[in-house]
Amino acid sequence: MKRLLLLAAAVTAMAAQAQSFPGPKPITIVVPFAAGGPTDRVARDLAEAMRKPLGGVILVVDNAAGAGGSIGANKVAKATADGHTLLLHHIGMATMPTLVRNLPFKVETDFEYVGMVNDVPMTLIGRPSLPASNYKELTAWINENKGKINLGNAGIGAASHLCGLMFQNALKVDMTTVPYKGTAPAITDLIGGQIDLLCDQTTNTTSQIEGKKVKAYAVTTSKRLTTPALKDLPTLNESGLKGFEVTIWHGLYAPKGTPADVVAKLNVALKAALKDPDFIKKQEGLGAVVVNDKRVEPAEHKKFVAAEIAKWSPVLKAAGVYAD
Ligand code: ASP
Repeated sequence: MKRLLLLAAAVTAMAAQAQSFPGPKPITIVVPFAAGGPTDRVARDLAEAMRKPLGGVILVVDNAAGAGGSIGANKVAKATADGHTLLLHHIGMATMPTLVRNLPFKVETDFEYVGMVNDVPMTLIGRPSLPASNYKELTAWINENKGKINLGNAGIGAASHLCGLMFQNALKVDMTTVPYKGTAPAITDLIGGQIDLLCDQTTNTTSQIEGKKVKAYAVTTSKRLTTPALKDLPTLNESGLKGFEVTIWHGLYAPKGTPADVVAKLNVALKAALKDPDFIKKQEGLGAVVVNDKRVEPAEHKKFVAAEIAKWSPVLKAAGVYAD
């Protein structure tokens, strides 16, 4: 009897929580990379676009950067499951399970999937003082400078790491990788000439390319992009790296155990945000494409992440790069 009463009280409490969600306190979106970078950009625009559909609650961004995105993801996996702490992550959700040996959480079971956000191309960029002005000249420069080239990334498991790894494998050239807490500090060092190359999302590189602050060599998608600042860039595939394709994506997650009604409310708000003309315009201007309602469905996104883990796992195992 006592157990039944306790159970009834717990169910009532959960129903009340869902009804009152969101409460008056802000919702925190944890970004597992440094402020000012590509994932941070998406999170901040999303925070603004989700505010109205969530009844005006404030959404703040918390940059819990480091270890290729696993520190921030772990923070959310262990957070209170009340819908007030969320994680915005990218393809790292699919690379971490293979790359990080002692990952302190499970991507498949420690989160409630709120939904997918967007697809984002990447670009290969270089320091402004690099003598090569197009991809052909870049390959010649790489061949002449083997053993001396520094390639930045946001740590093992980050999108920039995956893209850089694929690039080195395709060229069969080893570069010295320099890990940062995000590609915001990496791009600052690239502009300053401390590193030579970086593979990074268009949500970070578009304005730098437009402002001619960096040298841009290619896009990593299979087709050229239509964004005005990027439309003249060749694909790596057409430039000689046959079959090269890295497109990344973002998804929104809550800690495991977040009540189903709360996740459903967050999913509805996410869908509304992805239809907000302002958000769409901002994303398109940065080369990103928001996904349709079907792909925003939590179950659909979960299936997609599982397929991405299966797709990248053999590639990463073959490359033999691991973090502890
Ligand atoms: N998304 C970037 C990467 O994976 C990191 C960042 O957002 O700063 O390299």
